[in-house]
Amino acid sequence: MTNISESLFSHLVPILQSVSPERLQKAVAGIVSGEYRVTVTQQTDQEVHGVMVNEAGQEYRCSIIAGSAACACKDAQYRHVLCKHIVALALAMIRPPRPHRASQGRRSSGLRLVWSRPMLLQQERRQQTGAY
Ligand SMILES: [Zn+2]
Repeated sequence: MTNISESLFSHLVPILQSVSPERLQKAVAGIVSGEYRVTVTQQTDQEVHGVMVNEAGQEYRCSIIAGSAACACKDAQYRHVLCKHIVALALAMIRPPRPHRASQGRRSSGLRLVWSRPMLLQQERRQQTGAY
């Protein structure tokens, strides 16, 4: 599950681009803290289905299908907005919750850029502090 196709990736990106900042923030916080647990139940080049369990143990079934997304929660069902559950699913696809060996994901040049950037920043900072 570390590798996702470019096709699937292209369906995940618009979700992160169009979700409200508040929901994006909640989803990121939930994924990073481990409060949100995402289980992918089905994955193809065009769609991904999964179950998102929040910190209270509530389950939400989410789907991202080429150009559309669905979730069983009130935000998605009644308010027709992109909810944090769908965003959490998208985030979990892009960055699977594995605390160690992030560099193993270095298969395509695109991923390498993402991972090497923070390291460069750290080096720059070290050089700056060393100069003073
Ligand atoms: Zn939802």
